[in-house]
Amino acid sequence: DAKLQAVLSALSPMARQLNALPSNQPGRDANCVKLNTNENPFPLPMMVLQSALAALERHYLYPEDDNLSLRDAAASAYGLSQDQVVAGNGSSELLGLIYRAFLDPGDSVAMISPGFSFNRKLAKLQGARFLEIEWGESYSLPIEQLLLGPAKDAKFILLANPNNPTGTFVPVAEIDRLVAQSDQLIVVDEAYVDFAPDDALRLVDRHPNLLVLRTLSKGFAAAGIRVGFGFGHPELIGRLRNLQNVFNMNVIGHAVGISILSHRADYDENHRYIKHERHRTTTALSQLGFSVIPSHTNFLLARVPPGRDGKWWQASLDRQNILVAVFPDAGLENFIRVSIGTRTQMDAFLSAARDIISGSM
Ligand code: PMP
Repeated sequence: DAKLQAVLSALSPMARQLNALPSNQPGRDANCVKLNTNENPFPLPMMVLQSALAALERHYLYPEDDNLSLRDAAASAYGLSQDQVVAGNGSSELLGLIYRAFLDPGDSVAMISPGFSFNRKLAKLQGARFLEIEWGESYSLPIEQLLLGPAKDAKFILLANPNNPTGTFVPVAEIDRLVAQSDQLIVVDEAYVDFAPDDALRLVDRHPNLLVLRTLSKGFAAAGIRVGFGFGHPELIGRLRNLQNVFNMNVIGHAVGISILSHRADYDENHRYIKHERHRTTTALSQLGFSVIPSHTNFLLARVPPGRDGKWWQASLDRQNILVAVFPDAGLENFIRVSIGTRTQMDAFLSAARDIISGSM
């Protein structure tokens, strides 16, 4: 109607433009085998669930200001101090803060690419230019390109380690070298680090230009609770915290976050299981003619067998109620990304893939 049109015409050009982007929230079906957004398929430990229930009793109060206890818990879990920690509703919120803190319209940000596509949207929201710097040979860190190429004018450089959607991992010594040689802020998004051999958190004390992001969404099975952390120099962390909403997290997020951090060892078995299924699925997919990039995460990026592209595979698996992700816009037309779920879920996926191959290829 006319009033709605009047309201919509008041949208900023930015908001109108974003309206055209496809939703990144995939459809849900309670019975589907959901292997498209890299969740951890296991229930939270009982102690953690109990802490959530206890927190619910404080439902009528605002949550603690400035996420203080949660930041304390993260600091002591990771051997840092509380003023080196910012906490948010998932690491997505923290990514958003970094973009808001550093980017004005016309500025540029560089991401090592292919990378986590949400970053492109965040750059767009700021009216910033989004530079994609390709990974080096065999997904190595392209240090020279970053130091000498167009990325040297970027307000910050972002990489995920391990990386999404490739699943690849660069040695932390390489990150150390990049951060040491650069004057720019380097943001290392460690969303998947719990499935990887090493992490960059110990570098935070040594480099004021390093920011490390963590989440409880992947390694700790709390994607729906929304808890993430940023670790860096107190000055930098303080600036990011200034940008946050009041009471940005809720009492459940605080309680679950604190409880998970104090029961981290309870997840060792979970991580072993995921890594084992990752290995088993890699082998099985290779036997089916897929070519799997060795993964250090809870997902696999696999080149599909010749003849059909990733989208075709995604649609074929979807018909069997199995959801996987594709990234045709990132130059990965012939790949699918498959999250590692339970053994039952992976068997369902592999059996569907087998059927698809024998039925129609
Ligand atoms: N970084 C990377 C690399 C991711 O893949 C994701 C989730 N897909 C996130 C950050 C965001 O995770 P969350 O907001 O749940 O912490």
